[in-house]
Amino acid sequence: MSLPIRDELKNVSAYGAPQIDVPVKLNTNENPYSPPSALVDAIAKNVAAIGSKLNRYPDRDAVALRSGLAHYINGDTGVSVSKDQIWAANGSNEIMLQILQAFGGPGRKALTFSPTYSMYAEYARDTNTEFVAVARREDFSVDADLIVSAMTIHRPNVIFLASPNNPTGTAMDLEVLDVVLKAAPNTIIVVDEAYAEFRRNGVQSVVTRVSKYPNLVVTRTMSKAFAMAGVRLGYLVSSMEMVAALQLVRLPYHLSSVTQVVASTALEFAGELQKDLEQIRLSRDEFVNWAAQNGFETTQSDANFVLLGQFSDRHAAWLALVDRGVLVREVGPDHWLRITIGTASEMEVLKKVLLEVKGL
Ligand code: PMP
Repeated sequence: MSLPIRDELKNVSAYGAPQIDVPVKLNTNENPYSPPSALVDAIAKNVAAIGSKLNRYPDRDAVALRSGLAHYINGDTGVSVSKDQIWAANGSNEIMLQILQAFGGPGRKALTFSPTYSMYAEYARDTNTEFVAVARREDFSVDADLIVSAMTIHRPNVIFLASPNNPTGTAMDLEVLDVVLKAAPNTIIVVDEAYAEFRRNGVQSVVTRVSKYPNLVVTRTMSKAFAMAGVRLGYLVSSMEMVAALQLVRLPYHLSSVTQVVASTALEFAGELQKDLEQIRLSRDEFVNWAAQNGFETTQSDANFVLLGQFSDRHAAWLALVDRGVLVREVGPDHWLRITIGTASEMEVLKKVLLEVKGL
């Protein structure tokens, strides 16, 4: 007997990359390096220290964690923000869902530019928000003309712009954002910076614009750069008004005490994690060069993944890679595969098997 589920959820399958057990997993854009053992030890110690208080609900407003995040953002971007401009939740997924709970809903509209992160459509569906995706330019960039004209046609309440974009790795020019922000003072502009820490030198974070525009939201995550995907901690940097709005829709005590203490501990190791980030950036740039020299195309990437093509039958290429023990992601435009940058030894395996599947 079928349950009386909402019409929008009928015949829909649940989101998620295949979780296949292979030696080389390059499909979900995680940090390939385990957290350093000193961090693991500190986590164990700090979690044990709050163990006797787990009969109590957590700090509803995660004040200590938000102060730590504000300090980190200051170090990463040079911009001084207060904890009142930071909000945290279970992954940036939850942050973006909360944004649509507060600013979307029936009769309201969200706009994005595709190909992009496929979860934006799901947050919209789940909050009964109308969803519009306009195509990016041929090189997967977005420019001010494209965004402003889409805004004029569709009149969205919320715009999602991923920078660097998933799955293409493309970062957005800050000049483009400046034009959009001036043109849209009443639209919530969400810039999803899940991969910001992997940006190349000279690429600025959008956080530099936050103090000027209360409708600008920059979302970030500890899932990638901090090697903490298992913790589920995402956050935003925006205005105090935005934080107050999201406090209206969050579930009571949404962020567990364990999550808060683990995330705060990881923040203390931000400096130590830098060398792994540097290694990932170097491996990415090296892989892009290797790809060009070996007859593949890649997109310019400011993230910890690249889009690689072109395959006439990308599904066949994906399967051939799985057969050889390498899992990548079949996502984004036809003829391309998205590949997460792995450890140095994983990249060696990847290059070898790519040469074997090249003609597909
Ligand atoms: N934004 C983008 C562009 C992503 O690729 C991801 C994860 N794949 C997320 C947000 C969500 O990250 P998390 O919920 O782990 O913070």
